[in-house]
Amino acid sequence: MNDNNKHKLQAIRQLTDTTYVLEMERGGMDFKPGQHILLGYNGDIHKREYSIYSGTGDEKLEVLIKEVEDGLVSKHLRQLEKGTLLEVEGPLGFFAIEPELIRQKRKFLFIASGTGIAPFRSMVRSYPGLDYTILHGVKYAHEAYDKKSYNPDRYILCTSRDNGGDFHGRVTEYIRQHDFDKDAICYFCGNFNMIRDAMRLLEEKGIPAEHLHAEVYF
Ligand SMILES: Cc1cc2nc3c(=O)[nH]c(=O)nc-3n(C[C@H](O)[C@H](O)[C@H](O)COP(=O)(O)OP(=O)(O)OC[C@H]3O[C@@H](n4cnc5c(N)ncnc54)[C@H](O)[C@@H]3O)c2cc1C
Repeated sequence: MNDNNKHKLQAIRQLTDTTYVLEMERGGMDFKPGQHILLGYNGDIHKREYSIYSGTGDEKLEVLIKEVEDGLVSKHLRQLEKGTLLEVEGPLGFFAIEPELIRQKRKFLFIASGTGIAPFRSMVRSYPGLDYTILHGVKYAHEAYDKKSYNPDRYILCTSRDNGGDFHGRVTEYIRQHDFDKDAICYFCGNFNMIRDAMRLLEEKGIPAEHLHAEVYF
């Protein structure tokens, strides 16, 4: 782990009114797809966790951030100028795929709400040939962040407030109405309620608890 590394901000790529990708120098950081960093503005004591959005083969380090209303850090980072030094701690966490499972060519089911798609983009970019399906739950279809990063046959957009996605309704409703491969290894990321409900549903459908892995954002 590299403590308190300074990484220069290279660009901010706005994806929606409130969501952006922050691109910074990678500074030689080695990480496992799925891990997160603690990120803050140099000199500010406040730092927050953000999943790494870029892949292990990418030159820059990226995170996907949603501005939280009245949020201290997520709004502030958006205002920073190119060239600003960011403070990064990490990589951190154990939300990652065991390399042995990839060698075994297992099927992976990724279930995300909102910016919870971030660690899965890193996994998909880092492991070419991964046998995955992503269920991405958002409110509106324009929140399908960087949708082109995924194989369209493997990406299912569930929209709860418009019908511009592949499925109109929450991810949990999609799970209720569909069958899943019982051997799939499942990873959940995003808000706690979605993860709790989706896990329960998949367990009821016969997926063993030891195949369920979660990263809770809030
Ligand atoms: C392991 C981990 C990884 C994370 N990765 C990401 C990531 O890749 N992208 C990302 O955008 N966020 C991510 N988060 C959430 C992030 O760390 C911050 O909590 C978020 O950016 C809010 O920080 P803030 O300082 O702006 O808000 P604060 O001033 O800390 O206010 C926090 C309030 O916002 C709520 N909140 C936090 N996140 C959200 C959200 N997305 N939508 C609505 N309410 C929210 C909290 O419950 C709390 O009530 C992650 C959290 C964890 C624990």
